[in-house]
Amino acid sequence: MKPLVAGSEIDAWCTRCRLLLGHRIVAMIGKKPVRVECSTCGSVHNYKATAPGNASVAPVIRNRDGTITPVRTANAPSPRAQSKTSRVGARTSEWETRIAGQPATAFTRYSMAKTYDMGELVHHPKFGDGFVAVVLDGGKISIVFKDGAKTLAHGQPN
Ligand SMILES: [Zn+2]
Repeated sequence: MKPLVAGSEIDAWCTRCRLLLGHRIVAMIGKKPVRVECSTCGSVHNYKATAPGNASVAPVIRNRDGTITPVRTANAPSPRAQSKTSRVGARTSEWETRIAGQPATAFTRYSMAKTYDMGELVHHPKFGDGFVAVVLDGGKISIVFKDGAKTLAHGQPN
């Protein structure tokens, strides 16, 4: 189990984008992230795991008999985060296949105001070249960069 450190990727609530997005941890106190940098807008703010005042996003397990078991995520990385790490190898070779030999003109400069489609090639000022792997609900996309997949906002005209 890999502990969180400054520089780790983490899903957090962005106070500027108003979305749950990929962030990089800037500062930790003990085992808890306290300051994070948004991968979409670059703003640095206090770490919030979920949307303010929205208890429904807390992770739960829906049991077969209809009851609900809350999932404790405070100190343990989620199973999703772990499986993400094991997929990095496959993602990197897919990234190479998609990006290799593409001219610079094939890439659209990333902007959260634009709307992207699956498979679109994107150039991000910080993460470099990538492709849109998944278009997510709620104005978000997952872009695979050389370093791995990042969740960024799109179609946010503000
Ligand atoms: Zn943001």
